[in-house]
Amino acid sequence: MAHDALKREVCRVNKEIVKAGLVTLTWGNASGVDRDAGVLAIKPSGVDYDQLAPDDIVVLSLASGEILEGTLKPSSDTPTHLYLAQKFPESNGIVHTHSTCATSFCQAGMKLPCLGTTHADHFFGTVPCVRALTEDEVREAYEHNTGVAIVEAFEELGIDPAQVPAVLQNGHAPFAWGATPAKALENAIVLEECARMALMTWQLNPKAELPRHILDKHFLRKHGPGAYYGQKN
Ligand SMILES: [Zn+2]
Repeated sequence: MAHDALKREVCRVNKEIVKAGLVTLTWGNASGVDRDAGVLAIKPSGVDYDQLAPDDIVVLSLASGEILEGTLKPSSDTPTHLYLAQKFPESNGIVHTHSTCATSFCQAGMKLPCLGTTHADHFFGTVPCVRALTEDEVREAYEHNTGVAIVEAFEELGIDPAQVPAVLQNGHAPFAWGATPAKALENAIVLEECARMALMTWQLNPKAELPRHILDKHFLRKHGPGAYYGQKN
């Protein structure tokens, strides 16, 4: 069967988002992209994570969304994953959860500013909160237009999605992405932790902020051409 490695990895990451405490009931899904093969693989809709097996993972054409492999219906959020994967070429993994603290920011309609180096190590500045969709957008194609609104927001704000690999959607919940499904999972975990820390930080000091030069230092020592954090291969 084709796409076995991708389906195994997407299955594993879907189980990991539950183990990481990011998912209640079935409120979450992960996908993975193989750009050479032109496919996106995603969790099927409404299937228990315990029962999920690699063969349940649905494989779709990245370009058209046509189902290529799998007998189950893909996650209802599939059009959002597809659109983000099409428009953000460095996102080969996407994770959507309703993790409590990040979702609280979404429900409050608030972006998540960078308050410390934990955030700066993963996100190069504020994680934006994308506007709620209009009635027409929801009626017409809710999940697809969710992706459209996210991409529009990154373009308008001039944010590189490879440098801020997550978003908060107003009234809904977060999406995170990364170069691999495992990286997307890591970014979803970090986003939740940064949101939790921000809530506590603001309780202690509502005016807290991280100086820009420290934000720059922490992000750029781990990412980009001048990165030097970690071990050389
Ligand atoms: Zn959702």
